[in-house]
Amino acid sequence: MGEPTNQKPNRGPSCPICGRPAVQDARPFCSRRCADVDLGRWLKGVYRVPTDERPEDDEAAGPGRRAEDDDA
Ligand SMILES: [Zn+2]
Repeated sequence: MGEPTNQKPNRGPSCPICGRPAVQDARPFCSRRCADVDLGRWLKGVYRVPTDERPEDDEAAGPGRRAEDDDA
């Protein structure tokens, strides 16, 4: 994490990962590493959404249905 900052202090967009000024080589990130991190997060999120919603929905539907069934 000690990369030499050879980039010029431009006023472009800042890296969404670490907040450093982005470089043309890896815009809008400050480095390819951050770009990779962002990509990984994005992919993880995409895969996580359906995987995380399943158990959550199951749990909510479990007790919810029972109460409804009991009421009706
Ligand atoms: Zn960065």
